[in-house]
Amino acid sequence: MSMQGSVLAVGKCLACLEFMLFPVWRGIGAGNGVGVGLSQTWARCLRWEPDSPGQGARLPVFDYLVWLVLCHGGCAKLREVCQRGRGAIKLPTDMLSIKLPQLFDIHQIPKVFREDGIISGYRHPRSSALDCVLSSFQMNNETINIWTHFLPTWYFLWRFCILHSALNFLTDSYTWPLLVYMLVICVYPFTSSCAHTFSTMSAESRHICYFFDYGALSLYSLGCAISYGYYVMPDHWVNSFLHQHFVLIAIGNTLFCTSLSCYSRFLELQFPQRSKVLRTAAFVVPFVFDTVPLFYRILLCCWEGCSASDALSNHSYHVIFAFLTCFLFTAHLPERLAPGRFDYFGHSHQLFHISAVVGTHFQMEGVIADMTSRRAWLVAHGVMPSFQGTIGTLVISLLLNLGIISVFSAPLLWKRCCSSNSMHKTPCEYKEQ
Ligand SMILES: [Zn+2]
Repeated sequence: MSMQGSVLAVGKCLACLEFMLFPVWRGIGAGNGVGVGLSQTWARCLRWEPDSPGQGARLPVFDYLVWLVLCHGGCAKLREVCQRGRGAIKLPTDMLSIKLPQLFDIHQIPKVFREDGIISGYRHPRSSALDCVLSSFQMNNETINIWTHFLPTWYFLWRFCILHSALNFLTDSYTWPLLVYMLVICVYPFTSSCAHTFSTMSAESRHICYFFDYGALSLYSLGCAISYGYYVMPDHWVNSFLHQHFVLIAIGNTLFCTSLSCYSRFLELQFPQRSKVLRTAAFVVPFVFDTVPLFYRILLCCWEGCSASDALSNHSYHVIFAFLTCFLFTAHLPERLAPGRFDYFGHSHQLFHISAVVGTHFQMEGVIADMTSRRAWLVAHGVMPSFQGTIGTLVISLLLNLGIISVFSAPLLWKRCCSSNSMHKTPCEYKEQ
């Protein structure tokens, strides 16, 4: 017998407050006639209004894994559908209900997974990849971290598509710095979302996931430098020494940022304060360097009493959110004041993600406004962006960053290979690691 596909329907049983998964098999035995029959049976079972034949809307029979989004009253209906489905295909109950992964308290998990002020809602430190994906649909202390960067990825992709339809990214070299910037602001939240999703597969995978996260943030700082270097640079600074070497220094900053932030993870258990200072410095240095031209423009505008343009207003909001982001990252508020109160909602890392994304939104608007409003002046007085100075720089930096991540990951992967015989420990057995 072969299986053509499956549908997972998520049912949240409000009455018993129990989260259950109901895999719905479609087409078992397809090819020998049995699968077709089951498909039709399921099509009948997946009708929302079973007592009114012909009136209820039919759900399509899905070929692939999907999630049924619950609507008003959907819980009861979904439960009923699942009960009918069980009866229809007569599979044992055990095969049709999978409990979502168990969650743990801080004292049950290894130290490397613990977060300041977060007491509960931890996932298993040896979760499988599937458990990690499923856990993003289950309320735990990482769920909001995952979604606060996954959804903005789609927002930035959507903005990218709109820009792509309006601009000629292929042949107009003036748009290439914006192309690089849009690529990195799509990549960094997505990488972060993946890092938070898969960070509980093992201690080693946690480090490696966050190495990639730091690498993506580092490339984001390079993307900012490239776009600022071409569009945001103050008039007086165009063609200056700083302008001519701006992107080159930014490449050095990305290597510094990725190396230092990855290294800081090795100090985390023994010297948590030092680790935090180094990691913060790793991201603050490129930010300050990238933002120097912007600070100058904002200060000059304040000094001369100019009326802030659209671009400068957006840049100013971005700077405010950037400072807020840094504060949230370092302060660990509010969970530090009330440990355990903000495990699921409202802890500093979630606020940090949201603040970073809102800041990026304003930054994107500022960069786009500068790019369009200053085009004539920059084309006349500046240097046109080159392929090597934009996309080429991004590709080379990406390869260099991957090299750094490989260097830091290699000993961890080696260690993981050596300790593969400890795969089946319980969380408690790992907790003193
Ligand atoms: Zn994060």
